[in-house]
Amino acid sequence: MPKNFKEKDKLYIANTYGRFDLHLVNGKGSLVYDDEGKEYIDLATGIAVNTFGVADEEWKNAVVEQLDRIQHTSNLYYSTPCIRLAELLCTRTGAKKVFFGNSGAEANECAIKVARKWAQDTKGAGDYTIVTLKNSFHGRTVTTLSATGQDVFHHDFNPFTQGFAYATANDLDSVKACFEASPVAAVMIELVQGEGGVMALDQAFVKGLESLCREKNALLIVDEVQTGNGRSGALYAFQRYGITPDIVTTAKGLAGGLPIGATMLFERVETVLGTGSHGSTFGGNPIACAAAVSVIERIDDELLKEVREKSDYIFNSLNGAEGIKSVSGLGLMIGVETERPVDEVLRACMQKGALPIKAKQKLRLLPALNIPMELLKKAVDILKAAAKGE
Ligand SMILES: *Cc1c(COP(=O)(O)O)cnc(C)c1O
Repeated sequence: MPKNFKEKDKLYIANTYGRFDLHLVNGKGSLVYDDEGKEYIDLATGIAVNTFGVADEEWKNAVVEQLDRIQHTSNLYYSTPCIRLAELLCTRTGAKKVFFGNSGAEANECAIKVARKWAQDTKGAGDYTIVTLKNSFHGRTVTTLSATGQDVFHHDFNPFTQGFAYATANDLDSVKACFEASPVAAVMIELVQGEGGVMALDQAFVKGLESLCREKNALLIVDEVQTGNGRSGALYAFQRYGITPDIVTTAKGLAGGLPIGATMLFERVETVLGTGSHGSTFGGNPIACAAAVSVIERIDDELLKEVREKSDYIFNSLNGAEGIKSVSGLGLMIGVETERPVDEVLRACMQKGALPIKAKQKLRLLPALNIPMELLKKAVDILKAAAKGE
């Protein structure tokens, strides 16, 4: 690697990211290495993407096997990896159909299109409002930025897509007020607000939303871009909450490190999209789908139990520990509020060889679902020491 790669990054790549001074070059499982060979326990997994860690043999075999066959066919033809993945997702969730895109934002964009068309087809053209929650995050396209309930994202790119209203998380009355203000097509939520600070919604609020949507003939959309694919301790977090949504979106961890997005359509919206109503050139790409099949097939009851046990271990170790104010989240999606400034704690963790990331003013832990217990223990010890200022 040339010495001036940092200058070249700045010179040639659009400066949209504030990068850490870190260049990861390889790894194995939950250990990753920088360009000087320094080892880190990976608690970030590329933002909940590398579901089974780095260079996992089973995942690699699934990808290479498909690479040896055909890398892309387009949606003009049948593709068996894509069919196999759709079948797996439907049988494991109760969804009836799946639309494949390439990212979380695209999965949500599709959900929004489906909700609008469903409302127009069944209720009338005026019933288009989609209610989302304050502090949510739904993506970076102009429309999914509109869906994102944070004012900081609602500037610079005017005009934004219209038709969104914002309610307060865990406040059912604020959702009801949105229903009274305009005819609602759908409510869209993250069950654990990830970018918003790793906040799990209250069970009672979520159940209340489900009933409200049924009662008012509106759809319930669950954005599981981050919570999905085993991260919550269930295959999808809606299963942990015991609700039946109408649309579930997912992306990040689905293909274990390759770009993919999926919009799962349940019974009420199964037939909303017809030929020509939506599409994507790369959507359902055979390599990404073969990778995703191998990821979903491995997320069985045994693995999910381990995810919940590791989650309990983290919560129990950090709750009440010196220098730690609070621990939030679900499964292996955990937010840690520290007494010391989060940036200081994060830097100390990195220096000691653990890699968490941030969500708002919290540390965010998103380890691989199969992180070995001894590495998790080591990482938690590093975090505790860093929080204490050691
Ligand atoms: C990351 C994320 C998105 C956006 O996904 P991209 O793949 O970056 O487009 C949307 N919703 C949630 C909940 C996310 O965590």
